[in-house]
Amino acid sequence: MNSCPFCASTLQVADIGGKDRLACTGSTCEFVHWDNPKPVTATLIPMDGGIVLVKRKFPPFIGDWCLPGGFMENSEEPEESAAREVFEETGLEVQIDKLLSAHSPGRGINVLILFYLAKPANGLMVPGDDAEDVGAFKYSELPRNICFDLHRKMVAQFFKQEVLF
Ligand SMILES: [Zn+2]
Repeated sequence: MNSCPFCASTLQVADIGGKDRLACTGSTCEFVHWDNPKPVTATLIPMDGGIVLVKRKFPPFIGDWCLPGGFMENSEEPEESAAREVFEETGLEVQIDKLLSAHSPGRGINVLILFYLAKPANGLMVPGDDAEDVGAFKYSELPRNICFDLHRKMVAQFFKQEVLF
C-alpha cells in the first residue's frame, strides 16, 4: 500500500501509538493503515480414524497438505465461513462442533487463524477447484509435507489428543 485509499496522497511511516505505521500525508486526511490481521479459518475433521487434509493447488506451498480453510468473507459468521471453506475444498458438508483455539502465526504473517473442530455430515470427499487432492489420513499415513506451522501443530496435537477434542 503506497497511497491513501481515501485521498490518494502518499503514505509515510509515522510513529503512532508507539509503533511505526503508514499514515496519510494529506493535510486534512487522518487515514492510518493499521494493518490489522485478517481472520482465516482452519478446520479439523476427524474421519475414518484420521484427519482430513487438502493438497494445495495454489501458492503458497503448492503440493503441500494443510487443513481445509481460508479467508473469511465480508459479513460471514466465523463458523459459516469455516463450513463454506471445507465444502469448497473437500466436498464435505460439515457440522461445526466447536472453536478449538485462535492463534496468530507471527513473523509478519498477518492473519488470525480460528481452528474449528467439525463433524462430517454429508457429501462425498472430492477435491474442490482450489485443491489438487483431498484425503483422510491416519497418523501412520500422514504426508511429510504438511505446511503452515500452526496447522502441523494442530494435527500433531489432534493425534496426541493434547487438546480435548
Ligand atoms: Zn488520505
